[in-house]
Amino acid sequence: MKQTHSFQTEVKQLLQLMIHSLYSNKEIFLRELISNAADACDKLRFESLNNASLLGDDAEFRITVTADAEAKTITVSDNGIGMSEADVIEHLGTIAKSGTKAFLEKLTGDDKKDANLIGQFGVGFYSAFIVADSVTVESRKAGVAENEGVRWVSAGDGEFTVEPISKASRGTDVILHLKEDEKDLLSDWTLRRIVTTYSDHISVPIYMKKAPEYDEEGNVKPSDELEVVNQAQALWQRPKNDISDEQYQTFYRHVSHDYDDALAWTHFRVEGRHEYTGLLYIPKHAPFDLYEREPKHGVQLYVKRVFIMDDAKKLMPSYLRFIRGVIDSSDLPLNVSREILQESRDLDAIRAGSVKKVLSLLEDLKKNQPEKYTEFWQVFGNTLKEGIAEDFSNKEKIAGLCRFASTHNDGSEQNVSLADYIGRMKEGQEKIYYITADSYAAAKNSPHLEIFLKKGVEVLLLTDRVDEWVVNSLPEFDGKALVSVAKGSLDLGNLADEEEKAAQAKTEEDNKELVEQIKTALGDKVEAVRATARLTDSPACLVVGEHDMSQHLARMLEASGA
Ligand code: ADP
Ligand code: MG
Repeated sequence: MKQTHSFQTEVKQLLQLMIHSLYSNKEIFLRELISNAADACDKLRFESLNNASLLGDDAEFRITVTADAEAKTITVSDNGIGMSEADVIEHLGTIAKSGTKAFLEKLTGDDKKDANLIGQFGVGFYSAFIVADSVTVESRKAGVAENEGVRWVSAGDGEFTVEPISKASRGTDVILHLKEDEKDLLSDWTLRRIVTTYSDHISVPIYMKKAPEYDEEGNVKPSDELEVVNQAQALWQRPKNDISDEQYQTFYRHVSHDYDDALAWTHFRVEGRHEYTGLLYIPKHAPFDLYEREPKHGVQLYVKRVFIMDDAKKLMPSYLRFIRGVIDSSDLPLNVSREILQESRDLDAIRAGSVKKVLSLLEDLKKNQPEKYTEFWQVFGNTLKEGIAEDFSNKEKIAGLCRFASTHNDGSEQNVSLADYIGRMKEGQEKIYYITADSYAAAKNSPHLEIFLKKGVEVLLLTDRVDEWVVNSLPEFDGKALVSVAKGSLDLGNLADEEEKAAQAKTEEDNKELVEQIKTALGDKVEAVRATARLTDSPACLVVGEHDMSQHLARMLEASGA
């Protein structure tokens, strides 16, 4: 009754790449297997809310990690939800994640970069093959009879076998037959060190063999007793003062699958009408799918410490999709479906509150750790700017967090805030001037800037794709209108002195005939032709009407086929 199946092509590819590029990080296989075991317990805990009989007489969730020096195996066991035969074929033979293909195409062959990408993608179960030359999974789904268990075996070389077995207890055992040169993992100390590194915050107790005791003569007392090796308490529920930075960072790597530390985090408890706890992180670098069509969101939803869902898009707006972490609500109903959650008003309130916390964290970085803020801005500035268009209620706050390039500086670095700009405004200047363009060079060399440069008036140089949407959604900041120097009558308003006003009048007068001739020559192609005293070096420039689309936006829309 043993059947042989073939892995999905993507799995074969991933296996090859992973074994090769994650080798220097091989210990993560334990993180992955323990996190799967914990997920399996979380899932059953959740299911049992509506069907308590699933637990039978085994209601205490636990994970066990043991090594067998003789058999040269490491086993990770859980009494979670378990898998049926169909489940193992699907879950341990394919990659169901959306974007898998796009992800595989991103891999470069550079081990370090790839390792990071693979980590973010979630190496998962298949990481077992980094250290094992053969893996056996024995499982029995919660609620089914003893003889309805299943055994899955593979050497990670393209195929796996599946056969029915009898299994005494519910849940899953993952048995790794270690490669010849991975035997050092069998040492109790090594194994314990790795498990404790990765699992302190796992909320299911993890059992391992007790540390050896010695009798009076100094001989080891043999014992097969097990003990709990982790804190087994959700990290976010512990008081801030009890948590070290290292523990925060370890938890970050767990929720984000990142190899690197987080840049910053905010840990908060909200009380009152809605009660919830959040632990939200800003990564140091962009997730690989930040600009994909359907980027993964990284905030998990828990209700009263029970895991409800991953990738909870409802919890963070799209412009904060790079945030990773956990939100744990005390007042949402436990047995809610995904569909109900999508419509939940309570969730809206939780989201609004959590967004405020993230924005405050950014404010705080900006004020108190400007270097970190710069680091943040370089990676996520572009994404955060989307919030000006997306999040009406926080528009002003987000605008205050933005950084732009400007004529005040020499380089293209985005380091001028709107407040900086306003602080440098000339006497009589009422508006914030900007120009949008495809590139920094195009903006910097635009003839529209000439008069502003001459008068020493600063102009923001906006060259990111999103900037058009930003300025369209932000007519003013702090009571000052944002105005494109490439739009309208080129009126300098109060900035023009008497001399300039006279010069403008004279230019208009002197060129009346010429303007008429040009108008006739161009006909319908233009709306108006004007003489201006504003240009200093260039003979002419194109402007668009006050309320028309900018040339840059028009080009962008054209390029996108709109
Ligand atoms: P992920 O955990 O990101 O879904 P994995 O590769 O780690 O990806 O695991 C793939 C799937 O295999 C899981 O989603 C789960 O359905 C199943 N699985 C793995 N380990 C277990 C386990 N110990 N108990 C039950 N199901 C498991
Ligand atoms: Mg997993």
